[in-house]
Amino acid sequence: MRRATDPHVFRPDSYARRLSDVSLDELAAAGFRGIIVDLDNTLIGYGQDHLADVDAAWIASARERGFGVCLVSNNFNGRVTRVGSQLGVPAISSALKPLPRGFSRALAVLGTAKERTVVVGDQLFTDVLGAKFLGLHAILTEPIVAKDWLGTRVLRMLERVVLGRRP
Ligand SMILES: [Mg+2]
Repeated sequence: MRRATDPHVFRPDSYARRLSDVSLDELAAAGFRGIIVDLDNTLIGYGQDHLADVDAAWIASARERGFGVCLVSNNFNGRVTRVGSQLGVPAISSALKPLPRGFSRALAVLGTAKERTVVVGDQLFTDVLGAKFLGLHAILTEPIVAKDWLGTRVLRMLERVVLGRRP
């Protein structure tokens, strides 16, 4: 496990504008077999219940191609499992990212090796940091909507500092 003091834990392996822009061809070519997807503002807008067709289609396409897909969210309400069952994929809520428990459980559910599993998420301090702690590949997306939970807004200010952007 990497230490929080290692600067690489704050560095995504790649970036995508949104989930559906992540190339399944490239993931397959690179040997990835498992995809862990964050829920809020990665798969679905924060506070929203409606899943965009383009994102549902991306998940369906990933499953058709044989990728294992698992949702991992810090959110604790029933929406996490509801969206998971809507998409036909396992969902882990109350994950406490960046602590490794949620991603570890997802690896067990997916049955994929760390080096063959990618995390796609919109937050540096939860999704990317949690992925890097466990040695998973991390893809950072832009949040779907600007609205965020208060705690997330604080983390975003820190993200801009770490990523070198002006607040
Ligand atoms: Mg998120």
